[in-house]
Amino acid sequence: MSLPNSVIEADVLIAGAGPAGCSAALALNGSGLSVVLVDKATFPRTKVCGDSVPAHALISLEPFSHGIYDDFLEELPKVSFRSSVMILPNGNRFEFSWPLPGYVTERRLFDDFLLQRVARQTSTKVYAGYRIIDYQRVEGGVLVKTRSVDGVAGTDFLARTVIGADGAPSLVSRKLGGQPPDQEVVGHAVRGYFSDVVGLEPGTEYIFYHPRFFPGYFWIFPMAGGWVNAGYGMAEKYRKKSGVPLNVLFERFRQEHPVVREMMARAKPESDLGGGMVPFSAKKQRWAGDGWLLTGDAASLVDPVSGDGILYAVRSGLQAGLAVRNGRQHEYSGRVEELFWRRMKNQRKVMSLVTRMPGIISLASLLGRYPWFRRALMKGIW
Ligand SMILES: Cc1cc2nc3c(=O)[nH]c(=O)nc-3n(C[C@H](O)[C@H](O)[C@H](O)COP(=O)(O)OP(=O)(O)OC[C@H]3O[C@@H](n4cnc5c(N)ncnc54)[C@H](O)[C@@H]3O)c2cc1C
Repeated sequence: MSLPNSVIEADVLIAGAGPAGCSAALALNGSGLSVVLVDKATFPRTKVCGDSVPAHALISLEPFSHGIYDDFLEELPKVSFRSSVMILPNGNRFEFSWPLPGYVTERRLFDDFLLQRVARQTSTKVYAGYRIIDYQRVEGGVLVKTRSVDGVAGTDFLARTVIGADGAPSLVSRKLGGQPPDQEVVGHAVRGYFSDVVGLEPGTEYIFYHPRFFPGYFWIFPMAGGWVNAGYGMAEKYRKKSGVPLNVLFERFRQEHPVVREMMARAKPESDLGGGMVPFSAKKQRWAGDGWLLTGDAASLVDPVSGDGILYAVRSGLQAGLAVRNGRQHEYSGRVEELFWRRMKNQRKVMSLVTRMPGIISLASLLGRYPWFRRALMKGIW
């Protein structure tokens, strides 16, 4: 195949400038490789999320972007939490504390903060507002075709390696990996911002279960400025069985759960209820191949129990950047399996057990009195 006349050549093209893509760019900094980072959005852009960012994500980035944790604390509006309160299906309250804090910070601002660091601290060339529409294998690499936001033909790129950080569902995974998204192992979640929510304890995030809405869960995460991020998510196969759209389930949960109803009785919506896909780490897949690697949501690296993916996006993005930098792309799939996928195996087992026997969650409230159980729980999650 002949190349179009104007093509920008790069050693590495990172598709997607979310946490996974920015982390990959930071890990490639100083490698001597030419790197382009392409995103369809112009930043700051909205990203539908619970906005809960663990300290571990910032700690993981620190060696690649010195001072990032302090700058995050100084620059971004946020609320930190150290405790999680779960209201279990039987109504019992189960509270536990984390060894390190988590932060609720708007993803629109957090992702922009990461991208600005990439733009300032690395030689990565950022192309924002370019939607990638196709990947074609050509001599010398992969031809990446883009359109600008207004649909006009955009710049084309020729890259030796493509790092897929394009979220879920990933075009890189489909086109270069030959892997369509597996509807059996994805979830969906909706979230909105609300003001005037009452009963919030400082430094605490809330998770609610309800027997009629199981195995999904509802969350209320306090944010800066007195708002909360409230949402509801569920594995798609169970949602489908219910036959009810997720936004309707969100509203029903809100009305039917006695504690949520009370906390949100006078809540004022401050945004639309946005929705997004949550690709759980469930089935083993290929995470890399000839000239491509997958990271973050594009690699389905979301914890099947909590639905958290930011930490894994950051860590897998860093691993992908390092693998390319060190010429060890062939080892990347094995690293992902060892570092993330196997680790989430226990989570998958917990999730399928809990789905079959919801009462087991309530048992956790009894076991939660014992420090060994709490320690095991933390270890499982982090
Ligand atoms: C409702 C909801 C709540 C969640 N809550 C939490 C939470 O509280 N904590 C947590 O840890 N995780 C949460 N998650 C999961 C978390 O949002 C993801 O795991 C995380 O965003 C993954 O980061 P990423 O960089 O892999 O992908 P993304 O953040 O999705 O970034 C992908 C980027 O690729 C770009 N892109 C996509 N396609 C193209 C294309 N064709 N061309 C160019 N660019 C493209 C997009 O514009 C985007 O900027 C939640 C998810 C949902 C849906």
